Amino acid sequence: MNPLYDTLFGRHSGSNAPFLHLPSGETVTYGSFVERVSQMGGALRGMGLNPGDRLAAQVEKSPDAVALFGACAAQGIVLLPLNTAYTPTELAYFVTDSGARMLLTDPEKADALADVARKAGARLETLGTNGDGTLAEATDAAEPAAPEPRNAQDLAAFLYTSGTTGRSKGAMLSQENLISNARVLTDYWRFSDSDTLIHALPIFHTHGLFVALNVTLLAGGSMIFLPRFDVDAVLEALPRATTMMGVPTFYTRLLADDRFTRDVGGHLRLYTSGSAPMLEETHHRFEQRIGQRILERYGMTETSMSTSNPYERERRPGTVGFPLPGVELRICIPGTEDEVPTGETGMIEVRGPNVFQGYWQMPEKTAEELRSNGWFITGDLGVRDADGYVTIVGRDKDLVISGGYNIYPREIEQVIDAQPGVLESAVIGVPHPDMGEGLVAVIVPRPGETPDDTAIAATVSAELARFKQPRQYVTVPQLPRNTMGKVQKAELRRVYADTFVGHIIS
Ligand code: ATP
Ligand code: MG
Repeated sequence: MNPLYDTLFGRHSGSNAPFLHLPSGETVTYGSFVERVSQMGGALRGMGLNPGDRLAAQVEKSPDAVALFGACAAQGIVLLPLNTAYTPTELAYFVTDSGARMLLTDPEKADALADVARKAGARLETLGTNGDGTLAEATDAAEPAAPEPRNAQDLAAFLYTSGTTGRSKGAMLSQENLISNARVLTDYWRFSDSDTLIHALPIFHTHGLFVALNVTLLAGGSMIFLPRFDVDAVLEALPRATTMMGVPTFYTRLLADDRFTRDVGGHLRLYTSGSAPMLEETHHRFEQRIGQRILERYGMTETSMSTSNPYERERRPGTVGFPLPGVELRICIPGTEDEVPTGETGMIEVRGPNVFQGYWQMPEKTAEELRSNGWFITGDLGVRDADGYVTIVGRDKDLVISGGYNIYPREIEQVIDAQPGVLESAVIGVPHPDMGEGLVAVIVPRPGETPDDTAIAATVSAELARFKQPRQYVTVPQLPRNTMGKVQKAELRRVYADTFVGHIIS
């Protein structure tokens, strides 16, 4: 028995059904994919990896990179998928921190990472996107390896968090965590073997790897497997697709293109969005243009998917829906286990079979965030309405303290975003000689429009208490975002750090 392998991979053995549709026009069948998984398992074992060993992989998206996940599941090797954007310096931390036995990278990056691997005592191997690389070649030559017995509590992966609020943490995920999530989502979103999903997400993050991929594998559907998000490629894929999973930036980019119409995209049975908040405005524009609502859901590395808007009942823009079946969610007064009344903001906590096993080698951090009774303190602030829909209000780490007041920027951003000419905004706190931190509003105008700072400031002062009013407004063409569409506030704080230097009280 190897629950993860058996549930997602093994049962497709010998099947002629399509699994991956590649940009080259080729299709990888389930049967050939599972065979590749078994051979890659043989190759990894041949290279000296054993069950329980950790394998750090910074590899481009390719069918072999997906097979790697299967081979690790089958052989009980703990996979550490790493962001392809990380530099060798950043990578060194993850490889050393995880105690990885092997570092797998693209052939082109091997020279640059040789030192990292040597210092970490990890074996360096390569996996190319075109069947090249040392592991790919060893796989071609390897005998298939039978799956290792495992149990559901065994670790399947360390997934490092995005590092939005500080240093990335290695979330330890068990086989059971991945399986329970795949099951509940497949069921809730009605995935079946007649689905064809547009997969344009990266596969080093929970969304592209453990949501999109695992749901497809469990349902036996297929994926139009795109190396990255690209408007032209998605428009070309839409006629053949039934579903798409994305982050908010995918949808804003699609909507910016006039070719994305109801004729082209209206037939999909489901569009989902998550990983970052979606503007209500984007929801409305999408519905007007495409004739259906995007299903927004909320999750994180540590809990995979936690909430979802309903598949059949009303999807409410601006909310992330309800806790998924089997997942418990409560909203507490921060620092306590007491729940807030309906309609009041508090800390979101989540419990269930989806919740991770702790942070790798961070027992204190684990104890701070994962209560011994199983509740995980998400760091996200939320509110539940009378009908049970949950809205994410902000992140506790995003808190700004100005003049002694605690301020959650999202509240201010929402007021600014609703003003004429504003596409979106980010409010940050930077050092202020008098107030500790002063608020700066960074505004992105709608294409071709010039929002009026004075009018915005006037509305903000009419709607929000004085201590929540930004002291400085700046306009930029776009906000810095990472690959998952998350606004990089640390970067903004760095850019605007000197805004109030030398200012006298206002
Ligand atoms: P780190 O924990 O290292 O600071 P991170 O929390 O951004 O990084 P992820 O696990 O990739 O890393 O992201 C999870 C977070 O993304 C959630 O805690 C939440 O703040 C945000 N998020 C995900 N989905 C949504 C959504 N639909 N609406 C609002 N926020 C969301
Ligand atoms: Mg987080």
